[in-house]
Amino acid sequence: MGGDEGGDELAATVLVVEDELKLRELLRAYLERDGLAVLSAGTGAEALDIAAKAPPDLVVLDLGLPDIPGEEVARELRRGGSGGAGRNVPILILTAKADEEDRVKGLELGADDYVTKPFSPRELVLRVQAILRRSLSQPGQTGRRGEGERGDRMSFGEGELILDEGRREALVRGAPVDLTPTEWGILSALASRPGRVYSRYELLNRVRGYEYAGYDRTVDSHVKNLRRKIEADPRSPRLVLTVLGGGYRLAVRRDV
Ligand code: CA
Repeated sequence: MGGDEGGDELAATVLVVEDELKLRELLRAYLERDGLAVLSAGTGAEALDIAAKAPPDLVVLDLGLPDIPGEEVARELRRGGSGGAGRNVPILILTAKADEEDRVKGLELGADDYVTKPFSPRELVLRVQAILRRSLSQPGQTGRRGEGERGDRMSFGEGELILDEGRREALVRGAPVDLTPTEWGILSALASRPGRVYSRYELLNRVRGYEYAGYDRTVDSHVKNLRRKIEADPRSPRLVLTVLGGGYRLAVRRDV
């Protein structure tokens, strides 16, 4: 069955970490049909080993692994120390644990999306593509408006925060920060209109690019992680503020 033509193909490598052989092979088949290169691992140790040798562009990670808990694998992948996958590698979590607590835990790890078993492989592929599309629009590619790479630079709060849309790069107080695709998406959405309050629902749908029946706390987890990276004191944030009953807003003005 062909499914619909998914448009442009993304050249990327996905690491599938899943201990159930049948499911692993099913995922491989679907992802490869989409033109993606697939590496696969049946255990956490194997996954970390592969990621260190051949850093993937995205990891589909089952939380219930036989050796190392998936949560720990995610943390390790993100630690990205000795030539590992790197702190920004997008992670899509796959799990049989359906209750909300577990979902939230997964997202606190900074996962970019979350799929609960049983799931439709086609839907999973769409989510993988959505995440890759966000994370792969990196420097080398031509700028959206044909401007030079610098044309997309925006400065906020007298230079405290600089966002480079073209490069998907954030500088905070002069230093580059590593953001996951979701964190970048939230920050860049907020910065598109400083001061405007964005609801959690708006942010999720803007970031993911499709309707997402998610949980409010999903956004909160990502914002928490984002603050840890960009705020001088994450406990009393000055850049990304919570608006009670509303959502979030960027509290610094755009510099002229
Ligand atoms: Ca499993």
